[in-house]
Amino acid sequence: MLAAPFNDGLRVGVVRYQRCAACGHAQTLARHACQRCGREDLRWHDAAGTATVRAATVVARAPSDDFRPLAPYTLVIVELDEGPRLMGHAAPGVQIGQGVRAGFFEHQGRTLLRFTPID
Ligand SMILES: [Zn+2]
Repeated sequence: MLAAPFNDGLRVGVVRYQRCAACGHAQTLARHACQRCGREDLRWHDAAGTATVRAATVVARAPSDDFRPLAPYTLVIVELDEGPRLMGHAAPGVQIGQGVRAGFFEHQGRTLLRFTPID
């Protein structure tokens, strides 16, 4: 089963996820097999891009030179409306439980996710 890399979705500005055709489990990132049942029959789907914040942290010291210009920045783990979880940047001050929408920004030649509050 050919699986398009996760970044293919980001480049066109759409969050994508995989759903297992065998058991229906949804997951993010480009994985070879279903995390629940181990089958390899994974299909790509476009997500709506709306999600709920499940964890948030502020990174004061960037882990690499690439990210130093962004610091301090907020990282979140969100749960997409379709179910799977995903990590990305976020607007400062986002709260756990808050509804957010995915956006994208370019940094050092890469397209990165950034979530902003829906309201
Ligand atoms: Zn499965």
